[in-house]
Amino acid sequence: MTTQTNAERALKKLLQGNKRFVAANARHPNQGIKHRKEATKGQKPFAVIVGCSDSRVPPEIIFDQGLGDLFIIRVAGNIVDDCVLGSIEYAVGHLGTDLVVVLGHGKCGAITTAVNGETPHGHIGSIVKAILPAVKKAKQESGDVLENAIRTNVRFVVDRIKSSKPIIAKKVNAKKLHIIGAYYDIETGEVSIIE
Ligand SMILES: [Zn+2]
Repeated sequence: MTTQTNAERALKKLLQGNKRFVAANARHPNQGIKHRKEATKGQKPFAVIVGCSDSRVPPEIIFDQGLGDLFIIRVAGNIVDDCVLGSIEYAVGHLGTDLVVVLGHGKCGAITTAVNGETPHGHIGSIVKAILPAVKKAKQESGDVLENAIRTNVRFVVDRIKSSKPIIAKKVNAKKLHIIGAYYDIETGEVSIIE
């Protein structure tokens, strides 16, 4: 079994879970008392999700997974900094996870704020600042600026994670780690891959 197969299998598992969620046919796997006890022995999550803090986008629910399945980092605008990269490094370096999914979503408040050119008070400004390069690129493209910015931000974050030295970039170059972008439609509940 190759690592490529593991990552492909992990992605398939996520998308199958999302299909169940979309169809209101969720199984809520790995959430019983027996599994909770089993999980005390250790964790081996099959995917890392870098998602937005938005309360409408909880990965365990939208991918229909349970305890120990997903290693999740959520921050408004699904952006990365050193702490997020360190968390990813822990999952891929110590827990053996082969797939990282950066998950953007429709009607994202953080991206909307950045698109509107607002400069919020406090630490929210740091989040907006991190999203601005994607907004700048999105404004040069045709189509809806917000939708383009959401997708471009995901692509930029994927690239930033992929090139993160020394741990992640090395694994990506050796094809031992796969990092992909995805988009969650908050109306249909569907997750699609961003090429
Ligand atoms: Zn959001």
